[in-house]
Amino acid sequence: MTIALIAHDSKKELMADFCRAYKHILSQHTLIATGTTGHLVEEKAGLPVQKFMSGSLGGDQQIMTRIACNEVDMLLFLRDPISAKPNEPFEMQLLRVCDVHNVPAATNIATAEMLVLGLGRGDLDWRTIIPPQQLQV
Ligand code: PGA
Repeated sequence: MTIALIAHDSKKELMADFCRAYKHILSQHTLIATGTTGHLVEEKAGLPVQKFMSGSLGGDQQIMTRIACNEVDMLLFLRDPISAKPNEPFEMQLLRVCDVHNVPAATNIATAEMLVLGLGRGDLDWRTIIPPQQLQV
């Protein structure tokens, strides 16, 4: 399965630590990420990551396009809920596209952990069985 990773600056270290902790599960899957997040995960967790542009340069949009094309099976998006983000309307769009395609999406570490544990158990295998057009709402 393909897992997309995006982390705001204040959550990047957390994302890297999380990926290191769950390396045994994540290493069985394809990881894609926005530029800076991807670099950090590769460096700190030692996992291969297909990196897109940095979020501020359009990497978020590149990931959203892949979700819209049903090429992503899970989004782990560690958001900073405290500081205001100029990009917030876009983030709502990103989550909306996940809802359109029934892509499991986590916006905090607690949900991310549940999703990755479920991934390890095979709870998401239905995504490989059901034809992509039926995954859409
Ligand atoms: P980055 O993008 O991983 O390239 O920093 C994430 C973001 O948009 O904050």
